[in-house]
Amino acid sequence: MGRALRTVVIGAGVGGLTAAALLLKAGHEVTVLEAHIYPGGSAGTFYHQKYMFDAGATLAGGFAPGGPHAKVAEILGLEWPIRAVDPAWIVHLPDGRVVTQWVDRSAWEDERKRLFPNTEHFWHLQERLAKISWDIASRPFPWPPQSPANWLTLARGLRPSTLPAIPYLARTMNSLPLGNDPLFRTFLDAQLLISAQTTTERAGALYGSAALDLPRRGVNHVLGGIGSLAKTLVEWIRANGGQVHFRQRVERIEVSGGRAKAVYTVQGARHRADFVLANVTPWKLNDLLGAEAPGALASELENLEPTWGAFTLYLGLEGAAIPEGLADHHQIIVDPARPLGEGNSVFLSLSDANDPLRAPPGRRAATLSTHTRVQTWWELYQAANKDGYFQRRSLYADRLVEAAARVVPDLRSAIHLCLPGTPVTFEYYTRRPMGMVGGFPQSSLFAARGPRVGFANLWLVGDSIFPGQSTAGVTLGALRVAAEVAAAGRRLTRHVHTATLANHEVTTHE
Ligand SMILES: Cc1cc2nc3c(=O)[nH]c(=O)nc-3n(C[C@H](O)[C@H](O)[C@H](O)COP(=O)(O)OP(=O)(O)OC[C@H]3O[C@@H](n4cnc5c(N)ncnc54)[C@H](O)[C@@H]3O)c2cc1C
Repeated sequence: MGRALRTVVIGAGVGGLTAAALLLKAGHEVTVLEAHIYPGGSAGTFYHQKYMFDAGATLAGGFAPGGPHAKVAEILGLEWPIRAVDPAWIVHLPDGRVVTQWVDRSAWEDERKRLFPNTEHFWHLQERLAKISWDIASRPFPWPPQSPANWLTLARGLRPSTLPAIPYLARTMNSLPLGNDPLFRTFLDAQLLISAQTTTERAGALYGSAALDLPRRGVNHVLGGIGSLAKTLVEWIRANGGQVHFRQRVERIEVSGGRAKAVYTVQGARHRADFVLANVTPWKLNDLLGAEAPGALASELENLEPTWGAFTLYLGLEGAAIPEGLADHHQIIVDPARPLGEGNSVFLSLSDANDPLRAPPGRRAATLSTHTRVQTWWELYQAANKDGYFQRRSLYADRLVEAAARVVPDLRSAIHLCLPGTPVTFEYYTRRPMGMVGGFPQSSLFAARGPRVGFANLWLVGDSIFPGQSTAGVTLGALRVAAEVAAAGRRLTRHVHTATLANHEVTTHE
């Protein structure tokens, strides 16, 4: 093939940008099309009245040696604008217990022994399973396998040390010895909800164990806000000859002969492609393919339950109201008798006090969030009279402030600016249908979603594919997808080269 292979990436979330950068490095001609005016999607940072607010994600892991972001930095030769934090976050239980999620392992061991006596059996097993899971994840791990090459890679990755995990492959966290402190279970549920999008009852034992280990794997502040990760990737892509276009919303993927041929934007551009990567949810991909969507995708969607949405509150705060020495990240659980989410579990992140980019002098930017089911928001929003929607928005804002006031007692009087975000807001800004965020619950490993969608040259990337949510999770997914696309590119080049040679021979003999 005389020309470079052309890869078009739909969406400049962390997953899409990471795959784009890796493919650029692999020699592809890469174009990223982003609907919004800045990158990052759910891990973006937006500017409002001199504050830089993290829209969704606030904490980033995966930068320790061997971690997905660290690997990408090594391949691309870039530096992430990060600062490690310890503790990772602090969990406030309804009975007043305050659990510090130390990054330092021995500090964490002391903490859990002090607060949850009689749970060491659980933690030892969790740590053993987490170690195996992280070890597997650090090697190429094309899960779920979707091609013979994937199976081969998986088989090569097996080690004797992996074998003890086998009995846990199909088990949930519930099968681990959880003890009899009901708030210990609430604590675990809250940790798993933010890292696996489900609780002990459904979270897979291997995935859940790895997720509980996240704080110990290192957590970071991103300077300028979490959106700086996406910005760093955009800068790297542009500096290395790739293209990233903002305000370019893709409305259609053209398919012909079983391949994605081109991508069309609402703004009237057509981008021809050898490979297309869609940094979107399966629902969105189905819309983009329209009548060309494969039957398997349509039936997959029929059986899919809507995933979680988020209710968020962006607060501009008087810095003096934040207690001296307070950690920046907190998870507050309000009522043990109520299910988590819907304002009953709230994550509060304060901007780094030493980061002048985040807030005017003497102020702090805060992002508060809670899991919420998306349907009710849309029913209220689509009603002829939107009063119910706005009332619910105020009610949730109040719940979040009330919960966060357990950590910052003077919070209410410290608020200079308050912006709420519902699933309606998330749909508008991230283009994720119904504002569903965070990907699929990681329950059974055997139900995990892979990146293939029925066309030889079209892949999903982002938190809808295994291992799911988080900037580290989507980066791991992007490493897999980029490797597969690069391999497909080499095959295509060889095929075209062989065909050209054959053609040349025919012409010469004639
Ligand atoms: C409230 C909240 C808190 C979170 N907290 C954390 C956290 O602390 N740490 C963490 O690691 N993770 C966290 N997450 C999860 C994390 O943010 C996401 O899993 C991750 O950022 C998703 O990345 P993605 O690659 O799937 O892309 P997305 O974030 O979904 O971005 C996709 C991009 O594609 C663009 N796009 C979509 N459709 C089109 C189209 N048709 N044409 C052009 N562009 C399009 C969108 O505009 C968007 O920019 C949180 C998420 C939320 C919502």
